Amino acid sequence: MHITNALLGVAVGDAVGVPAEFKSRDLLRKNPVTDMTGFGTYGLPAGTWSDDTSLTLCLAEALVHQPFTTTKLARLFVLWLKKNHWTPRGEVFDVGIATREAIERLDSGMAPEKAGGTTKDSNGNGGLMRILPLVFYIHNKPAAERFDITRRVCSLTHGHIRTAIACHYFLDFASGIINGEKPQEVYFRLQKELPPVFAQLALPEEEVRLFIRLLEGNIALLHEDDIQSSGYVLHSLEAAIWCLLTTTTYRDAVLKAVNLGHDTDTTGAITGGICGLYYGKEGIPPHWLDMLVRRNDIEHLAQILAETLGWQISL
Ligand SMILES: [Mg+2]
Repeated sequence: MHITNALLGVAVGDAVGVPAEFKSRDLLRKNPVTDMTGFGTYGLPAGTWSDDTSLTLCLAEALVHQPFTTTKLARLFVLWLKKNHWTPRGEVFDVGIATREAIERLDSGMAPEKAGGTTKDSNGNGGLMRILPLVFYIHNKPAAERFDITRRVCSLTHGHIRTAIACHYFLDFASGIINGEKPQEVYFRLQKELPPVFAQLALPEEEVRLFIRLLEGNIALLHEDDIQSSGYVLHSLEAAIWCLLTTTTYRDAVLKAVNLGHDTDTTGAITGGICGLYYGKEGIPPHWLDMLVRRNDIEHLAQILAETLGWQISL
């Protein structure tokens, strides 16, 4: 079912990317990642996922406790950073600077929706990397409400409007996949539907214009050299959509994402999430699922969330 597919998709993509984090594209071209392996950048066994998955699982857990509030989510984020909640092996590693600073502010009592940075340079990919479970909560709500909830959930760590736009785009894309559309269909439909929505929401034009490679033309035709894979939210979003549109299996999409280099785990996690939704758990290489740390806990959480939100397990 969709929630399981999404959570496993994120975790597996993250885990494939973890050993290669910070490696350059040039280095990976010479020695590409071709499988889920261990003992790279962090010296951890294969199947170990990182902060991207931890915070994604915190959001999924927060959504189990209805009514959902950002206060509940903030509490879980603090529990992760301070008490190793939802960590693969009992300890936190690989925390983004903006995320750490924001969660420290949450821990010292700042209002959840005020904790994230709000300047233009506060647009790392740490909001986008953890957002996917929100689609199951906002899926049937009107666009303005979806945007508002997404912005508020982002703002715990990433309070700038650019991150909210990126997450809104990504979640609308995920909704289309859940509805059974092909990635290409979703991509071109969003080009028609989103600009009027963004205008109606009175989002700053100069911010919306930054998303031009998604909202106009065909990003699938771009060469790899034109796709960046830094820790910047727009780069990660473009890379994930490009990897989805230019491959035909979960495995190929995630390996393509990871071999872009640099922020490999997060590009892998975001790509893995959307590809998990599209190809399903059956589309993830079984030996990757077998190696995934805490796979049963992740599937159990997905099942509880599905029951809470009324999603059919068989969907
Ligand atoms: Mg990470």
